[in-house]
Amino acid sequence: MISLKNSEQLALMKEAGRITAEALLVAEENVRAGISTAELDRKIRAHIEKCGARPSFLGYGGFPGSACISLNQEVIHGIPSPKRFIEEGDLVKVDVGAFYRGFHGDSARTFACGTVSGEAARLIAVTKACFEAALKVALPGNRIGDISAAAQKTAEDAGYGVVRKYVGHGIGMQLHEDPEVPNFGRAGHGIRLYPGMTLAIEPMINIGTYEVRVLKDNWTVVTADGSLSAHYENTVAITNDGPYVLTAAR
Ligand code: MG
Ligand code: MG
Repeated sequence: MISLKNSEQLALMKEAGRITAEALLVAEENVRAGISTAELDRKIRAHIEKCGARPSFLGYGGFPGSACISLNQEVIHGIPSPKRFIEEGDLVKVDVGAFYRGFHGDSARTFACGTVSGEAARLIAVTKACFEAALKVALPGNRIGDISAAAQKTAEDAGYGVVRKYVGHGIGMQLHEDPEVPNFGRAGHGIRLYPGMTLAIEPMINIGTYEVRVLKDNWTVVTADGSLSAHYENTVAITNDGPYVLTAAR
């Protein structure tokens, strides 16, 4: 079932989204060679709790961290660890959610630790462009497939693979709500978009093929071919005035 949010609910989601965005800024400030992913996670959690919110991911399905922190060929769902240290040249994907007064925000960024390869920098830029292309068509009257096709075209025009096994989603009182928001698909197909829908749009893009597998920890998703992967996500409201990014720092 798809839940449409009224203006009061959207105002609360904006607050949850702002806290989520700030947590990502904290992450960005702290990404450096030598920091453990557990230390980064602690700083993210501290900020969320300071704001009177709760990390959405902590304990979700048994997840042990407050943020998912995935490096290089890891796509999503990396578990923060005191034994995992970020190195110069790493691609650091941080995926964060904050639960505040009944609503969730969900957002992810890919940070470069120091200087990364030209190819890695291009991957980060293209992944953000996939989100932006999708955002542009997140309009009332359009369909989910318009979002999907826009993200896919941007990635594939650049020669990259779009992860298919994991997709974006509706979000609100639940972290994951209907509908699914794939990053691949056909324009003009799928559920129609209505004002009040709130969607986590989150392209996951690989330099190589779109195929992924899950590591033995049962969480970490990696590219099947070992190529680099990037992730870019915002929680977005569909409104009559156009798409509204809820997970923005304000
Ligand atoms: Mg996320
Ligand atoms: Mg999400």
